[in-house]
Amino acid sequence: MNYYTCNACLFTFASDSMPTRCPDCGKLEVQTTEEKYGRTAVHTWPAVRPATLSEIDYHLKVKNEIDMEEGTAQEMEAQARICC
Ligand SMILES: [Zn+2]
Repeated sequence: MNYYTCNACLFTFASDSMPTRCPDCGKLEVQTTEEKYGRTAVHTWPAVRPATLSEIDYHLKVKNEIDMEEGTAQEMEAQARICC
């Protein structure tokens, strides 16, 4: 399993292979502009790139928090069913 990040929306996700399209915003590529010698140069990059270590770290931290919140919600729901 590898991790990828979208340059357009900064969505980080796990996938076996690098998709060409971001699964979140659907972008194929992003453009950046650079001012050079009085001209504007436009660079086009693939939207999806391999995630950096800090992005993977953050992704796992957020995912863990969401899993824990969902687990707590399910637990509370189960307790509510028992008592009522
Ligand atoms: Zn995206």
